[in-house]
Amino acid sequence: MPASKFATGLQCKVCGKLYPKSPINFCTDDFGPLEVVYDYAAIRPHVSRAIIESRPRNMWRYRELLPIDGAPTVGPQVGGTPLIRADRLAEAIGVDRLWIKNDAVNFPTLSFKDRVVSVALSKAREFGFKTVGCASTGNLANSVAANAAQAGLEAYVFVPSDLEKAKILGTSVFGAKVVGVTGTYDEVNRLCTQVAFKYNWGFVNINLRPFYAEGSKSMGFEIAEDLGWRFPKHVVCPMAGGSLIGKIHKSFEELYKVGLVAEAPQTKMYGAQAAGCNPITDCVKANRDRHKPVRKPNTICKSLAIGDPADGYFSAQLIKNSGGWAEDVTDDEIVENMLLLARTEGVFAETAGGVTLAVTRKLIEQGRIPRNEEIVICVTGNGLKTQDCVAEAVDRPALIKPALDAFDAIYAGTREPALV
Ligand SMILES: [Zn+2]
Repeated sequence: MPASKFATGLQCKVCGKLYPKSPINFCTDDFGPLEVVYDYAAIRPHVSRAIIESRPRNMWRYRELLPIDGAPTVGPQVGGTPLIRADRLAEAIGVDRLWIKNDAVNFPTLSFKDRVVSVALSKAREFGFKTVGCASTGNLANSVAANAAQAGLEAYVFVPSDLEKAKILGTSVFGAKVVGVTGTYDEVNRLCTQVAFKYNWGFVNINLRPFYAEGSKSMGFEIAEDLGWRFPKHVVCPMAGGSLIGKIHKSFEELYKVGLVAEAPQTKMYGAQAAGCNPITDCVKANRDRHKPVRKPNTICKSLAIGDPADGYFSAQLIKNSGGWAEDVTDDEIVENMLLLARTEGVFAETAGGVTLAVTRKLIEQGRIPRNEEIVICVTGNGLKTQDCVAEAVDRPALIKPALDAFDAIYAGTREPALV
């Protein structure tokens, strides 16, 4: 397969200054974040619906629009997750057409982070890094550890020390060195910036961030392709650092620019956060120019608990410019909607999925999303990693003797509370 060399460089999102493709993540003039730029005119003759559909069903079928120069060397099977037509959930929440993009079953670590990590680590190899790392709220830690193991890279993973046990175990098991830091995600992130600089390591969401973030676009490419090469009217997306929502929107713009979809996207983008950590939704709702950092996030949804999001400003702008909106929800609403999603569609999403569904319902009830227009909900992580959050909300199993009359008794409706 020909290598993708259509990414031409990096560009400051604030002043527009151009930089060569290198492991840097901010503009030296104004500290603005850097974005990968592509030569779309050069890409156009190399892509068609037939070419893409003939390739294996994973994120690399869109490789011309991803920022690696050679063949992908990390995460060859990432992506290609199902877009589920969610008719039972649609009925339950009173809308006509609803889809779930289900990255809870992404390979190998059951979250959308495998998309960004496979791009970042493929790029880390191109740059010659031998050691990689990340600051993480959990899912990213799992993904960096697994993909680094498969790639034979040494990995250091820095996490807040109060993280869910399942996410820490799901990192250590891959042989990564896990460092728990007694602080918030933002403090962990600052420490990692210092470590990356001092040791010259490739941190996927720090010095490799511009490349890393591009991996999220593949989620949007897949949504459009699975809808029959068209764009949905409304997309609801969870927000932590605020990157994913912008990249899904960018992916739609790119499909239009390279001619894979004939009509320009009119999609309205909606952002979802937990009330206990809502810097971006607050920025949108209060119509602020900049987000106010949340110093002490307090929510069961740890995967979205980034108090000072790197792309906060840009995601808030994007939401408003697209005609969308943002909302945040309580921990009780998160749990209720994790259960609703599981019980209507058989999808066990992590807390962030509960956030996204709860926010979708809120926006529908507010009249911001019309009930008769097509909605896509992005589910980004798996509930098996955050089981503690729903443990108290589900019934315990009934406990009976191994005898038919014992079962008859509970089946007859006298279902006693469990004995344990
Ligand atoms: Zn700049």
